[in-house]
Amino acid sequence: MDNQSLFERYRVHFSRAIALAIVVASGIEIIAYFVLARAGACALSFTDPYLLHKVLLPIGLNIAICVAVMAINHASKITYKAKNGVIIHGASAIAFVIAMIHREFVVNTSACLFPMILSAAFNDKKLISRTFVFSLVTITVTVICSALDGGIDLINHINYIVMYGFLIVGYFACSLSEKYSQLYLRLIKQQARDNAQLQDTLLRDSMTGLYNHRTFHMELTAAISAYQEKGRAFCLAMIDIDHFKQVNDRYGHDGGDEVLHKLATILKQFCQPEDKAFRYGGEEFAVLFSAKTMEESLQLLQKMHETFSKTKYTFTEDIITFSAGIAGYCGDQSKAVFFDRADDLLYKAKENGRNQIRTDAETNVTV
Ligand code: GH3
Ligand code: MG
Ligand code: MG
Repeated sequence: MDNQSLFERYRVHFSRAIALAIVVASGIEIIAYFVLARAGACALSFTDPYLLHKVLLPIGLNIAICVAVMAINHASKITYKAKNGVIIHGASAIAFVIAMIHREFVVNTSACLFPMILSAAFNDKKLISRTFVFSLVTITVTVICSALDGGIDLINHINYIVMYGFLIVGYFACSLSEKYSQLYLRLIKQQARDNAQLQDTLLRDSMTGLYNHRTFHMELTAAISAYQEKGRAFCLAMIDIDHFKQVNDRYGHDGGDEVLHKLATILKQFCQPEDKAFRYGGEEFAVLFSAKTMEESLQLLQKMHETFSKTKYTFTEDIITFSAGIAGYCGDQSKAVFFDRADDLLYKAKENGRNQIRTDAETNVTV
């Protein structure tokens, strides 16, 4: 799952959490109002200022904010980072409404810490900082309003200082959480890269860098499935270096290895992105030409053959060649039968004097 889809799920759950918080808070406010009215602390009337200003106004504002947040996040045009910001700043706006209505230590501290804690989940340093600033502004505005109302005594002074303290500690905790999440993410990404590299190493021949024997059989099976499911044509070429034992005997294994490297480079050079070259074993190679006719595949194989026979070596002036057989898959053979067909064509090319390519039609194409 990528960042975007993970955050999409966060946003859906956070929106629901915020909506639920509003429903619960509204329910509590309404119950409290009825309890207070029954106790005679206020009048049970729709025109009662307590009901209007402390209950219905914040409920209305919070529902409006919640609806706005959901509506903006449904707009597909804004970036996923902006959507994260909308959720968190929506929570900040709700915290502001609650803090302004209550101006009470526990409620204000909890309300202002709530969006900061949510922001840490998105691993976005800027979002955490912005939320922290909004929370500071919220607390400061409530302090100023309380001061203007003349309601700040010694206890309130201490409470406000403690509120700022909680916010600052909350900010550092969220920043640390973000920092370690980023480090952890980097570690996971590095592990994923290492795994992919290891996986690739297992698929390849360590000497030439071509795909190995095991991968060849997996890819041949996959190519047959792709033919059966999507009708994608492909051809298989089996390649074997001529008189390679003599190269080893005359020039040593280092000379032989140089030839293997050169051939591998040529196969890679002429393979198109959809094709794959393999070291089948020893001095035998295979190429799967995908999504190509026999004619197109043969043209590429001929270029490989020609280039290899013109290759210069550091240890000899001799011309070294290969023989090859190439078969096109028709859909009516098993993997083993098809492989044997390409291998038989290679065998025929050897029998016929080497340095040539044999095709399905049994014609000798190149000498
Ligand atoms: P032909 O034309 O019939 O294919 O004859 P050939 O000599 O190429 O075939 P043969 O099977 O007799 O010899 C293959 C040689 O390839 C034998 C083996 O020592 C050599 N060989 C296999 N793997 C390697 C390798 O990794 N490096 C080197 N230098 N030689 C290798
Ligand atoms: Mg050989
Ligand atoms: Mg051989």
